Amino acid sequence: MKIANSSTTAVSLVKAALSRIEETKEWNIFTFVDKKAALERAEEIDARIKKGETVGRLAGVPYALKANFLSKHRPADASVKILTEFTSPIDSTTAEKLDKEDAICVGCVNMDAFAHGSSTENSYFGPTKNSTDKTRVAGGSSGGSAVAVALDCVQFATGSDTGGSIRQPATFNGIYGIKPTYGTISRYGVVAMASSFDVIGFLAKSASDLDLLMSITAGQDPKDQTSLPDYYGADDTKLDKKSVGYIKEFMDSPALDPEIKSALESKLSALRAKGYDIVELSMPTLEYALPTYYIIQPAEVASNLSRYDGIRYGFRTKELNAPDKTPLDLLFENTRNEGFMRENKRRIMIGNFVLSSGFYDAYFLKAAKARTLIINEFNKAFEKVDAILSPASPNPAFKLGEKVDDPVSMYLEDVMSVTANLAGIPAIAFPAGTNKAGLPLGLQIMGPRRSDKNLIKLVEELA
Ligand code: GLN
Repeated sequence: MKIANSSTTAVSLVKAALSRIEETKEWNIFTFVDKKAALERAEEIDARIKKGETVGRLAGVPYALKANFLSKHRPADASVKILTEFTSPIDSTTAEKLDKEDAICVGCVNMDAFAHGSSTENSYFGPTKNSTDKTRVAGGSSGGSAVAVALDCVQFATGSDTGGSIRQPATFNGIYGIKPTYGTISRYGVVAMASSFDVIGFLAKSASDLDLLMSITAGQDPKDQTSLPDYYGADDTKLDKKSVGYIKEFMDSPALDPEIKSALESKLSALRAKGYDIVELSMPTLEYALPTYYIIQPAEVASNLSRYDGIRYGFRTKELNAPDKTPLDLLFENTRNEGFMRENKRRIMIGNFVLSSGFYDAYFLKAAKARTLIINEFNKAFEKVDAILSPASPNPAFKLGEKVDDPVSMYLEDVMSVTANLAGIPAIAFPAGTNKAGLPLGLQIMGPRRSDKNLIKLVEELA
């Protein structure tokens, strides 16, 4: 990471970021650019450096916030109409910690509305395009974050990962992305998607940058009761078995792109050459990971989105007249109808269905049990191996428009990434070359809970 010091000024770093943002407008990355505030902050940091004062570990480093991170002074709309007029009274804990280390937020980046999606096409502001090929998707939901980093608008960006939203766009754009162990980084001040899956993480250009960001932001937060006491840097998992596994069922999957498969095989050979045992793991319950995720996640989405009623947050409908309906009913109905995107509504419908009496036992409860089996299967695997190497998504970036009208094929994008969220384990996406067409390929490495730092070291070995 380029950090401001006596030879590089924060102002020059921010100016370079702002001009890159200007040059890359066609990609539709930023939903808000905080030019004036970023430059003022850079000047203030430079003045402190000049005076010889100590500055933070991220002095002058320009970064972008995914649009679901709340900020008092910036829009926090999660790329959805229903939050467009919302002004947040709070800042997210993550941004507070980054700002304390003198990083400079230059703006907010595009995402799938409420983080529902795998391509960033489901945004109120239109799709973000892939960094390598503008006819292809950025991946999602943190597509803006990934492309902002890949095209050097910023040195890192925040992300959230409920089922793959950091890792899949990282692989589509040839960069690194970490989904930490559930609870490692406070979720306070981030728009909730599905609370038992959501984690905060980062997208950056190297594993060591991810390490620095984790060491700054990990830790318990009294404002997030699911946050873990800080373990980062003192991980109790040693990863000293010197063995890495791969999942047989993923390798045999007909959905897996052959070039991703061979990238994975060559990483396994590289590990073998370094003295690692390579173990084939059969994990048959992972067949149920995607259906399990797409039952529990919408149930949690439906609950989290019930708060958007047109009264407490942002946008409110103007359509309050209709025969046979009270203005209050219309306020709820029309605000939600006009304010949510189609995919948000689909998840609310599915979520309420699987939670409704009569269906709860057959769907939600069953899925909760399947989730436990999946957790157990990972625990068993980690008795044998330190880590598991796998694809993050079965394919490289697909064409814009290709899956947008076919929700099931979009959901299938997540078939390999949701596993880590179901189990709450850390997973890091990293680049693994390009395919014949020049598109970036990437993989992910998963480890036991709290092995985040050791996983980063493993990724460095693989680079
Ligand atoms: N693509 C997945 C979904 O649509 C994951 C999204 C995410 O991680 N926020 O649910």
